[in-house]
Amino acid sequence: PLAQASCESVAAAVAGGHTTHEPAPYTGYAAYRAQGGYALLRDCAAGVRTLESVLATMEDSGLRGLGGAGFPAGRKWRIVRAEPGPRLMAVNIDEGEPGTFKDRHYLERDPHRFIEGALIAAWAAGIDTIYIYLRDEYHGCRALLEAELAALRADPPLAGMPAIVLRRGAGAYICGEESAMIESIEGKRGMPRLRPPYVAQVGLFGRPTLQHNFETLHWVREIVEKGASWYSGHGLNGRKGLRSFSVSGRVRAPGVKLAPAGITVQQLIDDHCGGMQEGHRFYGYLPGGASGGILPASLGAIPLDFDTLQPFGCFIGSAAVVVLSDRDTAAAAARNTLRFFKHESCGQCTPCRVGTAKALALIEQPLWDTKLLAELSQVMRDASICGLGQAAPNPIDCVVKYFPQELEQP
Ligand code: SF4
Repeated sequence: PLAQASCESVAAAVAGGHTTHEPAPYTGYAAYRAQGGYALLRDCAAGVRTLESVLATMEDSGLRGLGGAGFPAGRKWRIVRAEPGPRLMAVNIDEGEPGTFKDRHYLERDPHRFIEGALIAAWAAGIDTIYIYLRDEYHGCRALLEAELAALRADPPLAGMPAIVLRRGAGAYICGEESAMIESIEGKRGMPRLRPPYVAQVGLFGRPTLQHNFETLHWVREIVEKGASWYSGHGLNGRKGLRSFSVSGRVRAPGVKLAPAGITVQQLIDDHCGGMQEGHRFYGYLPGGASGGILPASLGAIPLDFDTLQPFGCFIGSAAVVVLSDRDTAAAAARNTLRFFKHESCGQCTPCRVGTAKALALIEQPLWDTKLLAELSQVMRDASICGLGQAAPNPIDCVVKYFPQELEQP
C-alpha cells in the first residue's frame, strides 16, 4: 500500500493534482526535456551519433540484461537488427521476483530516462512498435506512465517515433518470463514457450522481438552520453558495471542500493544499509530473490554479480538481496519460497507442476527426506520447461548443503 501511495502521489503530481503524500523526487516530461532529455535520441536520429558508434559504446560498456538473464544488451540489439522486419520490442516491467522493487523505484522517479532508452534501443535495432508490459499490481505506476506517454505524444521530441503501447500485466509471476510475457501481450494465457526459436527471431506476433527489462533501458542514455568506460569503470573484486540491489530483510535501512557490481553482501549491509537491525546477527541471505538460492553468513564475501554465484548453486538474478538474521531459519525461508513457486507454477509441465507441490510437502515434514529431495531436484532441473521449475529446488538444495544444523537428524 505504501508503494502504491507513492506511485499514485506521483501520478497526481503529473496530472497537476494535489496530494497529501510526500512524492518521491520526480522528473516529469517538461522537466526532463528542460534538462536536456531526448537530445540524445534526436542526435541519433539526425546522424550526429552513428549507429555503429552507439552499438559499439553499448557493447564496450558491458551492460547486461538486468532482469536476471544477463544477456549483453548491445549484442542483443545487433542480433535483432539483423532479423527481417517488421521488428517489435517488448519491455518487461512485470517485476514479480519476490524482493525485487528496483524497476518501480526508478520508474516512480525518472520515467523518461527509461522511455528515451527504449526509443534509442528501438532506433538502433530498427523497431516499429514498442510494447511495455507493466505489472498489474503497479496501479499508480500505470497512471503515471499513461500520463507521461500522453505528454510525450502531445509534444513529441522527434517526428516518426515508433508507437508505444502500454499493456497491463496478468497478475502472475510467470508472466515475467520473457516468452510467457509475449504470450500474455498477445492476449493468451501466460505460459512459457519452448525454445528455440528464440524471441529475437520469432517473438511477439511471430515477429523478431527485442526484449528488455526496464532497468537495462534506464541506463542507456547515461552510458551513451558518458561513454562505455564510465559504466564499465565501476566495479569491485574484478567485476564491471553497476547493479541496483533491492535489499530487504533484517537490515537497518532496506531499499534500492546502487552499488558497484561485485560488491559482497557484507559490504552491502555495512556500507549501504547501516548494518543489521538492533539485536540481529547476520545469519544468511538470499542473493537473488526466491529463485537464487540461500547462502550462509560464512559465505558473505562472495562478489555479487552474474556468474559469480554459480559454483555455490546460486545466482544473482534481478539482484534482490534478502538478509536473514539469527532469528530466522533458512528452512523456513525455503518453505516460503516453495509455497510461492507451487502457487505460481503455470502448470504446463509435470516436473514443475507436480514437483513444486511434492517438494513443499516433503520440506513441511519435521524430518526431510534428503535423498528423495535430491532426486526430485534433479528431475525438476533437467526436465522443467522454464526457469521457474528449474530454479525452484535451489533453496532446498542450499538448506541441505549450507544449513544442515537446521535439519532434524533421524
Ligand atoms: Fe510452467 Fe513451471 Fe513448466 Fe515453467 S517450469 S512452463 S512455470 S510448469
